[in-house]
Amino acid sequence: MSMSVLRRMALASAALLLGCSVAQPGLAPRSGAPIQSQSAQNAQTGFNTRAQMEHSANFEPTFQNSFISQRRLAQTGNTVVKVAYSNPDQVAQLNSLGMDVWMVTKKYVLGQVNEEVFTRLQNSRMRFEMISPQRGMSALNTFDPKYHTYDEMLAKLRGVAGKFPQIASLHDIGDTWEKTKGKANRDLWAIHINGKGVAEQKPGIVFMGNHHARELATVEIPLMLIDLLTENYGKDPEITRLVDTRDIWIIPMVNPDGHIEAEKGANWRKNRHVHTGAIGTDLNRNYGFQWGGGGASTSPSSDTYRGEGAFSEPETVAIRDFVLGHQNLKVLMSYHSFSNLILWPWGYTKQRVNNPKLVEMGNTLGKLTGYVPQQAADLYVCSGTTDDWSFGQLGIMSFTTEMGSWNDGFDPPYSKVADFWKENRPAALYLIEQAGSFK
Ligand SMILES: [Zn+2]
Repeated sequence: MSMSVLRRMALASAALLLGCSVAQPGLAPRSGAPIQSQSAQNAQTGFNTRAQMEHSANFEPTFQNSFISQRRLAQTGNTVVKVAYSNPDQVAQLNSLGMDVWMVTKKYVLGQVNEEVFTRLQNSRMRFEMISPQRGMSALNTFDPKYHTYDEMLAKLRGVAGKFPQIASLHDIGDTWEKTKGKANRDLWAIHINGKGVAEQKPGIVFMGNHHARELATVEIPLMLIDLLTENYGKDPEITRLVDTRDIWIIPMVNPDGHIEAEKGANWRKNRHVHTGAIGTDLNRNYGFQWGGGGASTSPSSDTYRGEGAFSEPETVAIRDFVLGHQNLKVLMSYHSFSNLILWPWGYTKQRVNNPKLVEMGNTLGKLTGYVPQQAADLYVCSGTTDDWSFGQLGIMSFTTEMGSWNDGFDPPYSKVADFWKENRPAALYLIEQAGSFK
């Protein structure tokens, strides 16, 4: 073991003592054992997927097995922590304390806190430990240049529409916040893929990515789906049949203003709405079904700020009006990162959703992706989400995918996208097929 690892462990232990008034020994196995490779762990535990392993009761998130250990560290004022919890209400409590929650395992809430929230956490009597090697130190976000920037995405979509004019068309479905203020010229773009037949008379499906700016791979999976459907139309009989019998819409980037920040390497989640004293509204807390409930913040400085009102943001208005304008939509998928989860409504309440078909489809998505399927509120209650609105208001079968593991984070090297695509490709085709089972 290197000196730096020892020093890090010593620092982390010191922080544990300082940080937690009710720290209990045994909360954190501070093991000095060499870190096992993923495959070795899987062979030992019998888990089929990394998702199952990370969501099992004995998964111990550490600095070494985190994505942070693969990034450049810097004094950012933020600290990555793991907080032990015993009931899900504490997860919501951490949200309201201002923690940027990244992932929830069986035992821990993982995420990042600034200095102010670190102090609040110390005063909260919740048991926590640092994942960061030092207080105030965290990983700098990266933007692997192989990811599409907003401009590159738009050029690509124009290219697709130009190359496959019989089946693909490009649509501007609305402005970003900065465009509405004359500060920038960015739009939300949708690709429409439709073979034979009248689109409006066929069962419809919409895929969308990047409500949250820093979740980089969630732009790429929709783009790969566009390529799959357009390049194989007329060649692969199954793809041809789906494109001929379904009305397919794909919106790769819901949050272009935010994405521009991520392109600069910023750790940015929200849109770029300038509020008094802070920037950004969480677009996935701004939809108008049970808006204003739990798991969303009233503070503009929070990463889960719900906005001034339901649909206060031009981006969510664009998605709302798009969905309302296509009454044949039967299925909706919104891609997020990370945690290897398949989620379905409700998010705003733990009450079970009363729709066996929705749950059945969610479980099938779990099998196809290898991710862990569950009702969204089982993770933690959060309100104003895309899928709560589209399901709750309109009855559209709606899902959220959280792609990537604790080892991938929000901004893995682009080479990881191939793995995510392998996981999500069959699930996307399944959903397109399923759209046809609704009248
Ligand atoms: Zn997200």
